This record gives sequence, structure tokens and C-alpha cells, in this order.
Amino acid sequence: MSTPSLLILPGDGIGPEVMAEVRKVIDWFGAKRDLAFDVSEDLVGGAAYDAHGVPLSDETMEKAQQVDAVLLGAVGGPQYDDLDFSVKPERGLLRLRKEMDLFSNLRPAQCFDALADFSSLKRDVVSGLDIMIVRELTSGVYFGEPRGIMTEGNERVGINTQRYTESEIARVARSAFELAKRRDNRVCSMEKANVMESGILWREVVQKVHDEEYPDVELSHMYADAGGMQLCRWPKQFDVIVTDNLFGDLLSDVAAMLTGSLGMLPSASLGAPMANGRPKALYEPVHGSAPDIAGQGKANPTACILSFAMALRYSFDLGAEADRLEAAVEQVLAQGVRTADLMQAEGDTPASTAEMGDAIIAALDASL
Ligand code: NAD
Repeated sequence: MSTPSLLILPGDGIGPEVMAEVRKVIDWFGAKRDLAFDVSEDLVGGAAYDAHGVPLSDETMEKAQQVDAVLLGAVGGPQYDDLDFSVKPERGLLRLRKEMDLFSNLRPAQCFDALADFSSLKRDVVSGLDIMIVRELTSGVYFGEPRGIMTEGNERVGINTQRYTESEIARVARSAFELAKRRDNRVCSMEKANVMESGILWREVVQKVHDEEYPDVELSHMYADAGGMQLCRWPKQFDVIVTDNLFGDLLSDVAAMLTGSLGMLPSASLGAPMANGRPKALYEPVHGSAPDIAGQGKANPTACILSFAMALRYSFDLGAEADRLEAAVEQVLAQGVRTADLMQAEGDTPASTAEMGDAIIAALDASL
């Protein structure tokens, strides 16, 4: 097979800082595991606007369509706040998601034991937590028509439309079932079939895909509001949760907070399989460009490094190497290495972005 290709888009703010640590990890896999990646790097967001007047050039978009996976840092910053909506940094990211048709957004909520006390929930509720929320990303109420603010009689009315086709539901359901097969083989689908027709259709289609294609995966259904409650009550009951765009937006943020810091959370957005069988894929940390700490060496690079671990697992079928990288992160945390966002006691000296990256490399070395 040809060398797997990776397009790196560091972006703005802390994006380039955390991505520099990912580059160390990529180089480590090349040098120590004989896993070479064909890596190219380009601009996105404000950095692309500064260079080209657009937040994502056509050339970069074209490259993103051709590589096996895209790894993005973060976009945005206060210096771009007054730009026209059409060229704001976030539009670069939205263009990537839209044109690559990345309909399946994977947000893991994994609680490393060493960080269990960072959660707002009790240690025994979150310790060892490892769930995956699959959010439909390209349809639903954020995109449905009609939409807008209209005038009816003598008052205004705000309208958004929840709309899902059977094929849109079926493809994200398949994505969830495929994931479950690599994990604990359980999917819980969440909607509001009690009050929404789109929820009734969602439930029917997920059940049909299950019965016809994945009968061996355990499937349950839950109303999304009850799901939110259960996520806070006993999240370990779940393995994979699949849900629509709006509920997924909310539930994945709830799940994120179970695990502590924003600096720890990776994500993946997957699309249809390409000719080589790999899904179109964009990997990125959940956090933004953190302008308040940019350029100070304070950013936690772990979320971006764990996003690369997801790329190893889901784009390159290197699950054992992804396990190795995640175990290295776990070990570094267990050793007490902490960036500033993970500090609890006043007076402790935090690790810098580069020191955190170096500690992860040392743990990778120790894994050999
Ligand atoms: P943010 O995620 O950038 O920051 C929120 C808080 O978390 C800040 O205090 C920040 O210092 C901290 N933080 C975030 N990542 C961290 C890390 N890796 N290590 C340590 N601390 C970290 O969100 P925001 O402040 O609301 O937005 C800042 C900019 O980022 C805005 O321009 C926003 O539009 C953009 N943004 C981009 C993305 C993206 O690129 N996917 C996502 C969210 C926000």
C-alpha cells in the first residue's frame, strides 16, 4: 500500500503550538515504528486569510480532498472578529466539513484515571469512563429549510426546520454500528420520537439498519432528554451513542465536561469511504484557538495528540499504535506531568506545551 498521506492545517492561536507537538509524535512513529506518513502542511483560518484573503484557498481544499486524513489545529482570534462573515476564520473549517461531506462526528469522552478529580462528578462515576458520541453533522435543524426570521402579522417569527432523509440517518447509523464493533459492541440511539416525526423516522431507520446489517450489535433507544440525564447519572452505562446534529451538539458537550479539561478532548469527523476504502476524515481537538494563552507555551497539546491517535485508529487501521499513544498519554498524566489547565494546587510549576509533548515522546520510547 502507498504511504498514507496527511494534510496538517495548524491554523491560528495555539493551533501551531499544539501541532508542533503532534509533529514530534508523527516523527516518532516514522523513526521508531517504521510508520512513515506523507505529511504536507498548509494554511487555514485567519492564517489563510492573512496570506490569501480567504480562510481556505481552493488549492488547500483540493489537497484536503485528496489526502487520507486532515489534521487541524484551531481557527479564529479577536483580530478577525470584524471581518465579513464570508471570510471569517471559522468559514474555512465549515468549508472543509461541507465539501468533504463529513456527516459523522465522533466525540469520545474518556476519563483518564489521573484526571478523575477534575470532573464535576464523583470519581467513581467518571473514573475509567470511555464512551463515544456519534453526532450527525451535515443535516438536521442547523441546515433544514425553511429557515429565517419572518414577519407574520405584526410580529416576527424565527424559523428553523428539523429535516432528515432516510439515507442521512442510515449512513450515520452505519458509522455508529461500525464503531461499536471495534469497541464494546453496544449502540444507544437518542432522539425525541415521543414528540418529533423526525425522531420517529430516526428510530425506525436506525432499527432497520441494525436488523438488516448489524444484528449482532446490541441496540437500545432512549429519548435525548433522558439521555442527558443518564449521561450525568451513570455515563458508564453507554458505549456508543448515536444522535442527530442538535442533540449531538448538546450531549457531546455534556459528555465533554465529564472528563475535565478542554485541553484533553479530541474529535474526528468522517465522511463516505474513498476509492481506497478509507473514510474522508478530518481530525481536530475540540478546543478553539485560545487567544488568551496563545504564544505563551501554556497550551495543552494532548487534545491534538489524541486526535492524531484517532487518525491512527480510524483512517490508518493502526489500532494497536493508537492504543500505544493513548497509553503514553495516560502514563504521563499518572506521572503527574500537567500543563497549566490541569493544575490543581497553587504553587506547582506547570509543564509547558513542549515539555508535555516531550514527556509523551519519552513515554512512547518507554513503551518499546
Ligand atoms: P477556546 O476553546 O479557544 O478557549 C476556551 C478556554 O479554554 C480558554 O480559557 C482557553 O485558554 C482554554 N483552552 C482551550 N484550549 C486549551 C488547551 N489546549 N490548553 C489549555 N487551555 C485551553 O474557546 P473560545 O475562547 O470560546 O474561542 C477562542 C477562539 O477560538 C474564537 O475565535 C473561536 O471562534 C475559536 N474557536 C475555534 C474552534 C475550532 O477551531 N474548532 C472551536 C471553538 C472556538
